[in-house]
Amino acid sequence: MPKKPVSTEGSVPTGSPRERRWIVSDGGGAVPDTFRRATKIDLTAGTGKAGVQPGPGGTDLVVQKFSNAGDAPSTTTVTAGSGKRLRNTVVNLIFWGDAWQTNPAPNPSLDQVVSDAAAIMAGPYQLRVSQYGATAARLGTVFVSVPGNNPPTSYKTSDVATLITDSIEGGALPEPDEETSDVLHVVFMPPGTTAPPNLGGLHTYANYSDYDFPFDIDINDRSHFAWVAFGSRANISSVFSHELVESLTDPEGDGIQVNPTNSSNWNEIGDVCSSRGTVNGVTVQSYWSQSDQACVIPADIALDMQITCIHKAPRNDPYHPIREVGGVNQTQNISFRMSQADCIRSIDRGNHFFVIGPDGARAEVRVFIHFPPWSLQGIRYIATVADNSRADNLLSLPEC
Ligand SMILES: [Zn+2]
Repeated sequence: MPKKPVSTEGSVPTGSPRERRWIVSDGGGAVPDTFRRATKIDLTAGTGKAGVQPGPGGTDLVVQKFSNAGDAPSTTTVTAGSGKRLRNTVVNLIFWGDAWQTNPAPNPSLDQVVSDAAAIMAGPYQLRVSQYGATAARLGTVFVSVPGNNPPTSYKTSDVATLITDSIEGGALPEPDEETSDVLHVVFMPPGTTAPPNLGGLHTYANYSDYDFPFDIDINDRSHFAWVAFGSRANISSVFSHELVESLTDPEGDGIQVNPTNSSNWNEIGDVCSSRGTVNGVTVQSYWSQSDQACVIPADIALDMQITCIHKAPRNDPYHPIREVGGVNQTQNISFRMSQADCIRSIDRGNHFFVIGPDGARAEVRVFIHFPPWSLQGIRYIATVADNSRADNLLSLPEC
C-alpha cells in the first residue's frame, strides 16, 4: 500500500485540552442552538450502502497484516496505562458548516461520509481494540449545523473544542454526565477550510465544568471528540478510522500508547501504521495490534482458496467421497487442509475455492448435490464447474 500523504494525519493532541467554565444565571442565557438533529440521513443511500449490511452468508474474518514502509516493525511494543478507554461508545457524526449542505453536494457528500463511517463501525474493522480494554463503537446520531454556523477558514483544534462545549451548553449535545455510555463526537470539517499544518485529523477531549448550582454540579466532566479534515472520500474515511480506534484506546492520553510513549504528543496505535486497505469498499487505515505484532485491518472478505491436493481412498471408487482437500489460502498466503464438509461450509459462507487445471485455467469449485437410493435428503459434494473436458479437475489432483 502507498504510504499515506503527510497531510492526511498527523501527530496528536496538544495535551492541553481546553477547559471551559461558565455560570448560567436564571433562564440559561441566550446561547443559540448550534446544531439540530439531522432530519434526513438515509443510510441506505449512496454507494457506500453495501458496507452497512453484511454480505449474504458472510465470509471469513481475515485480519490483514501490513509491513510496508511506514508500518511499525513486529518488535513494536505498547504501554498500557491505567487511564480511560472508551467502552460501549456511541459515535456522533457532526457536520460543521454550510458547505456540507450545498446543492449540488460536495464530493464526497455528507451522505457518503455518513455511509462510510457507518460501514466502518458496522463491520469488523474495530475488532482488535478489544485486546486493549476498549470495545467497538457504534453509530450514534448525525448532526448538521444550522445555517450560518461555520468554522473559521483556517481552524484550530480549540475551535472544535469550543464548538463541542458550546453545543453542550446550548443543549444540542448531551452533557457528559447525561451520557449513559461513552460518547465520541467526531466533527467533519467542511470543504473550503484549512486544517492546522501537517494534520488531517486529531482526537482529544475537552473539560466541561458545569455550575448549574444547585441542581447539577459537574466538575471537569470530559467530552471526547475528534475532527477530520475535508479531503477525498478515501482520506476522510481513513482518517476517521484512525481517530476512531485511537479515541477508543487512548481517549485521554493515559491509556494505550505505543513505545516510546509521549505525554504531550500522544504516540498511539494509528500513528505507527501507514498502510491502508478497504473493508466492504470503504478505505480504512491499519492500526497497531500487539496480539498480531503487526499493523492490521480486520476485514470480512472472501478467501481465495486454491485446492492443490485431495485425500480420497480408494482413489478410483466413485462410491467413496473425497475425504479432505488441501492447498493454499492465497488471500493470506497460508496452507490449509480441511474435510470436504468444512470446505462445503466455507463455500456456503462465500469463500472461493478453485483448481488450476493442467492447461493453467482456473476452474471454480462448487457444491453439488446428488440423491443416492439410500438418501432422501441428498448428499452434497464438491466438484469443479463442468468445462469442455467434462473432467472433474479435483479428481486429477494428487493425494494430499
Ligand atoms: Zn493519531
